[in-house]
Amino acid sequence: MHVLVINCGSSSLKYQLINSDSEEVLAKGLCERIGIDGRLVYQKEGLDKEITEAAMPSHKEAIRMVLDALVNPKSGAVSALSEIDAVGHRVVHGGERFAASVLLTEEVLAQVEECNDLAPLHNPANLIGIRACQELMPGVPMVGVFDTAFHQTMPKKAYLYGLPYEYYEKYKVRRYGFHGTSHSFVSKRCAEFLNLDLKNSKIIVAHLGNGASISAVKDGECVDTSMGLTPLEGLVMGTRSGDIDPAIMEFIAKKEHLDIEGVMNVLNKKSGVEGISGVSSDFRDLEAAYNEGNQRAIDACEVFAYRVAKYIGAYVAAMNGVDAVAFTAGIGENTSFIRKKILAYLGYLGIQMDEAANAVRGEDKVISTADSKVTVCVIPTNEELAICRETVALVK
Ligand code: ADP
Repeated sequence: MHVLVINCGSSSLKYQLINSDSEEVLAKGLCERIGIDGRLVYQKEGLDKEITEAAMPSHKEAIRMVLDALVNPKSGAVSALSEIDAVGHRVVHGGERFAASVLLTEEVLAQVEECNDLAPLHNPANLIGIRACQELMPGVPMVGVFDTAFHQTMPKKAYLYGLPYEYYEKYKVRRYGFHGTSHSFVSKRCAEFLNLDLKNSKIIVAHLGNGASISAVKDGECVDTSMGLTPLEGLVMGTRSGDIDPAIMEFIAKKEHLDIEGVMNVLNKKSGVEGISGVSSDFRDLEAAYNEGNQRAIDACEVFAYRVAKYIGAYVAAMNGVDAVAFTAGIGENTSFIRKKILAYLGYLGIQMDEAANAVRGEDKVISTADSKVTVCVIPTNEELAICRETVALVK
């Protein structure tokens, strides 16, 4: 089957066309600056990237351009749109309603819309992408794959906040968690790679990208994860604060004369390692500044690694043990010095890092020594492939 995977944001759209039998990516790219001016990046496997500037007033024009590029006689990946058998859409928030991927019917779309409240920046954009695809590809089955679904197995003690219970009842204020597609993919792949029985295993997945989250996966099911009602909770991220004392919000609002939107903007976009370092949210820049002795970059890296190590400790407690720790996403897959810093806190678990193996980038690899009590590995994530597999499972 040919599956088109779509990840639609408010002004951007990423896509991949995957042959689900060989799991080969036939073409991929993104549309940027939708609603502003418009730019299509298209790359067919084995060919150079093509960049086209063209007006994209809405997601519909963006998707039309993607489809045109995919069937272009010269550089296209298929000869006709009818060769695209299904579309898998990333949907950010599925609330409590969606604990698994689902075929997108009108009834389901109405339920997804009910979750808009919980992710006002993301879900409406996801829905616009779905609607645009439906219009341009009538009759092609569409599947929704939710970032929150994998975490729906969390027990109540892990997802309830210490808030008045009526907020949970009335507004569904609780912890949901995100990056679920990645946590699910990486925990399964980790078990397979290490020859663990997934149904009888304790795995901690550290998804460390620009957005970062960590999860405790026991017997194949998520029992806790660090993000909450929104992706702001948990680890210190590229530009997000992660956990803070909530009273800081009032304090900063008064000192800086900010309203609630202003404070939220600071916590989401001006905090994290960028906020601490004043250098960058990107660990390539941070590592360079760290090596030059930039004290704030050093502070940012130390805070980042320490927070991850504390969460790993918490999740060992949540599962009463751990068999494996898997690092994934941009930082988890590529940044050896951060992995080393995190693992340095975990000697008490009997974790021993293999220095040479830890130099790895972007491939499945064990980075702990043979006698380490807990196996530590790098497992590259592949959310698009995971969405493709979910889509095939529902469409076949
Ligand atoms: P997201 O999908 O949340 O945008 P990614 O998983 O792509 O994030 O991770 C992006 C981050 O990963 C970058 O900000 C950077 O800090 C880090 N990163 C990516 N590639 C490298 C690399 N080769 N070396 C060091 N850090 C990297």
